[in-house]
Amino acid sequence: METSATPTHCPYCALQCGMNLTPAPDGGVEVTERADFPVNRGALCGKGRTAPAVLSSRVRLTSPLVRSRDGALRPAGWGEALDRVAEGLSRARVVHGPDACGVFGGGGLTNEKAYALGKFARIVLGTSQIDYNGRFCMSSAAAAGNAAFGLDRGLPFPLQDVPRTGCVILVGANPAETMPPSLRYFTELRENGGTLIVVDPRRTKTAEQADLHLAPRPGTDLALALGLLHLVVAEGRTDEDYVRRRTSGWEEARAAAMAHWPEYVERITGVSVPQLRQAVRMFCEPESAMVLTARGPEQQSKGTDTVGAWINLCLATGRAGRPLSGYGCLTGQGNGQGGREHGQKADQLPGYRKLTDPEARRHVAEVWGVDPDSLPGPGRSAYELLDALGTDVRALLLMGSNPVVSAPRAAHVEERLRSLDFLAVSDVVLSETAALADVVLPVAQWAEETGTTTSLEGRVLLRRRALAPPPGVRTDLEVLHELAARLGVEKGFPTDPEEVFDELRRATAGAPADYSGITYRRLAEQNGIFWPCPSGNGPAGSPTGTPTETGTETGTHTRTGTRTDAGTGTGTGIRTDGHPGTPRLFLDRFATGDGRARFAPVSYRAAAEEPDEEYPVLLTTGRVVAQYQSGAQTRRVDELNAAAPGPFVELHPRLAARLGAAEGDPLAVVSRRGRAVAAARITTAIRPDTVFMPFHWPGEGRANTLTNPALDPTSRMPEFKVCAVRLEVVRP
Ligand code: SF4
Repeated sequence: METSATPTHCPYCALQCGMNLTPAPDGGVEVTERADFPVNRGALCGKGRTAPAVLSSRVRLTSPLVRSRDGALRPAGWGEALDRVAEGLSRARVVHGPDACGVFGGGGLTNEKAYALGKFARIVLGTSQIDYNGRFCMSSAAAAGNAAFGLDRGLPFPLQDVPRTGCVILVGANPAETMPPSLRYFTELRENGGTLIVVDPRRTKTAEQADLHLAPRPGTDLALALGLLHLVVAEGRTDEDYVRRRTSGWEEARAAAMAHWPEYVERITGVSVPQLRQAVRMFCEPESAMVLTARGPEQQSKGTDTVGAWINLCLATGRAGRPLSGYGCLTGQGNGQGGREHGQKADQLPGYRKLTDPEARRHVAEVWGVDPDSLPGPGRSAYELLDALGTDVRALLLMGSNPVVSAPRAAHVEERLRSLDFLAVSDVVLSETAALADVVLPVAQWAEETGTTTSLEGRVLLRRRALAPPPGVRTDLEVLHELAARLGVEKGFPTDPEEVFDELRRATAGAPADYSGITYRRLAEQNGIFWPCPSGNGPAGSPTGTPTETGTETGTHTRTGTRTDAGTGTGTGIRTDGHPGTPRLFLDRFATGDGRARFAPVSYRAAAEEPDEEYPVLLTTGRVVAQYQSGAQTRRVDELNAAAPGPFVELHPRLAARLGAAEGDPLAVVSRRGRAVAAARITTAIRPDTVFMPFHWPGEGRANTLTNPALDPTSRMPEFKVCAVRLEVVRP
């Protein structure tokens, strides 16, 4: 173990707060303040503070488990467990073909693991069937960002810009609960004279801080954005010069918005016309403004169009690609950004290269030492892959995900997992998904291994190993190395994360998400580096000429940063000439072929499932501050469990009165997909036509039993945020 404090980052959300890990008297580590990391400046939420508890949890897996003939999981040696996994995958491939093997990854995996997993799927298994749980997180924002700007990086500017803009519209985002240290950016915004508008069907802790809270009916924020754009045009607030110089497609988008009259939008959304007018005034009057979205608008069957409509609002008012202005997505998972860049996604190769692009295939195949024609094409998206288990896909390797709790229509997904011929899961605890596996592989955690992540700002960060994993545990990279060897690929899967990262740098050289100029050494010396960061002998920026503003982020807005010669070679064949990275994108041009941002010609359409007589109430889902995602880790931490011990149904007093429900009563929530039961929590902070459930728990209170897997046609995002339900009080 290290004897002094190890600077690193939190294992949980995409804010990737900096923290120090200091040796604890019991031989483990404790979290201490790391004030030098500019994003959180020492502040942490309860999850970050208690993260070491999972390292030493009594339910930590420290031995592989294999399913025995009697159906129970029993401890086994690594040799037997890995042999069983190789055999299970191999059998599916031989009997049914390569696409009968599936791989499911996670947005919490480091860049190195995400990269190695994508490579493993494509060159060891030869399968196209790989996707990951990040598809459920930000894929609609990614699709809309790519369509509008030619490039998706969650935030195209650092969080430090937020307090210095004039107005922020936060759409379907609740950072007060999901990433509490980030809330100070919004309070500083208001202290500096800026305004905050929050769009959310619930009066969340974030909405309580807002100057204006708009509470649309779930699933209608597309109409809301169109109504705001209508008013922008009608009130003569369009930035005609910007639209002419820097965008394309305005006439079509404008015509679509003009069909959404404010009174019509009020009827759809429930947001009054005066509130719409007030929002337009607040957004348009300052010199700069931002729109930031999160899962609210994104997790819909029209998520791409909804985000596109919010981007349209930014473009029509000249609020994108300008200092202190722009559109951004608050990505959720710890490596939600990096996880989507390096090959876990069904249609992408490392660096955000497209799997269908012959030049991208050639470049990556060369790095991998394989024939480009041997690389499979795009596969199914996450839900479609889970839905195909047991039919087209017969064996699955799953890393860093718990879809039994986190996938939509979860009972069906659980049934599909049970129907597999073979399931292998690597995890740190026996999650609800791992409990279904034929083989469970116990792996190292964040503080026990080094690796990189990419935060919601596009800032690549180094997580450092602070202590050794417990005996009996291996790293995911070691697992992939061993499996590749057993499946006939002896080389190409190193176990040293830095070696994997150096290969990733080569694979991403010249790509949209270019990491080739980033090294572990530079990351150790700096507080992260924003991509794109090309190397000395790689093309600068993307093939389309990613417009960049380079600079080291110091907390002040500088258009040109300092180039620091932080390295001239690493023995990997590419130079690192100290490109400083790119905190801000698009200031000169967008990453589209002609450099112009593209308007999305979108119109409102209803949710896939609207209330009716049988299911008269809307359900929306989300998170609470003390739990993280499927709760696989945080439900094992006593302090967090005490703060958030179980599921609940939030409902308005008027709805409670109609049902005859009192606070704490068990409520059955029933959708077309199943039934969940949780305690009633009665509050005026929610619309009377809507109920809210957090999704962190399995079993009877599992919110995702109810959610609708209707997919967005572009992003393939399921509609987690809105479905129709009925409610009944459960009487003893
Ligand atoms: Fe960790 Fe996110 Fe909490 Fe920061 S806000 S401590 S990154 S969970």
